[in-house]
Amino acid sequence: MKNRTVLCLLAVLASAILSGCATTSKRPPVSGKEQAYLQDICESNGIVWEWEQVSEVVTLKYRNTRAQAMIDSDVVLMGDEKISLSAPIRRTRGAVTVPGDFQWKVIDRLRQKTVAQKSDGIPKVRKIVLDAGHGGKDPGAIGRNGTKEKGIVLDIAQRLKKILQERGMNVVMTRDSDEFIPLEGRTAIACRQNADLFVSIHANASPARSVYGVEVYSQKPLKKISRIALERKINEDLLFKNLAMRRDSSDVKKIVSDMLYGNKQAESKDLAENMAQKVSRQIKTKDLGAKTADFHVLRNTLIPAVLVEVGFLSNPKEEKLLNNSEYRQKIAQGVAEGIMDYVNERK
Ligand SMILES: [Zn+2]
Repeated sequence: MKNRTVLCLLAVLASAILSGCATTSKRPPVSGKEQAYLQDICESNGIVWEWEQVSEVVTLKYRNTRAQAMIDSDVVLMGDEKISLSAPIRRTRGAVTVPGDFQWKVIDRLRQKTVAQKSDGIPKVRKIVLDAGHGGKDPGAIGRNGTKEKGIVLDIAQRLKKILQERGMNVVMTRDSDEFIPLEGRTAIACRQNADLFVSIHANASPARSVYGVEVYSQKPLKKISRIALERKINEDLLFKNLAMRRDSSDVKKIVSDMLYGNKQAESKDLAENMAQKVSRQIKTKDLGAKTADFHVLRNTLIPAVLVEVGFLSNPKEEKLLNNSEYRQKIAQGVAEGIMDYVNERK
């Protein structure tokens, strides 16, 4: 993808996020007995709020506590707690309106929770899925001297696993040997394991042999229609089984999956940027930066997910370096640093 396109996408995304308490304007009173403007409630209670208009997710923050809700839903999530409102949250003339019980059920609760410091609502990272690309009958990219991507990335993933385990992380591998695992299988592992982060390791190839460096991908923002793709549904079912939700609560399922989606988009992008920087510094190569793409392994997980391209097998110099175990260890260290920065921010 061209850099300019990426910038455009980011600009569109950024403009879609409206920061709540920044502006005040005179508005007509809300129709309906008990609806109130969310902006007014937030302002009078010192709560920062955001409305992500693509996913329709509304996020409220008070100190270290966070609550999330969705337009047209009467459910609010605060940490592990699910709050039911008397009526759905609505979009009225370009503003967000909430029912009367929002104040005591959500706002007061949010402020109390902060005082009690029981739960901050930001998911902690406990379990990480490492996905070594390709394997078995699928060699991935092949260098001029015959280096196969599948072997290089498995070795890096195994080194990475060791480093992360030494730092106390719970690590699950999608493959731990030279075996073929279909793409659906890889993301299903992430959901079945109730993991918090998905990191896929790959090596690049380009028709231009001179191209080299490290790049990290996160999922390209999805249109609503592709967000209800069949495979994603299957993974959601697995995920919700883990969250032990009743199967008939379809409304709750939708809101939770959309929230995870919104959360995933923002977090994956930050993680990708930091990881590209950490890895390229570690191995002193070019930082090609964070990019977005529509990769299957990134699309079909509801947790933050990134795909690291550790170097180009099509570049003779990088092919040689990737065959060096010290170099692969450094790559693993760089990826681990990126992951641990992300983990520590959520402690
Ligand atoms: Zn690959």
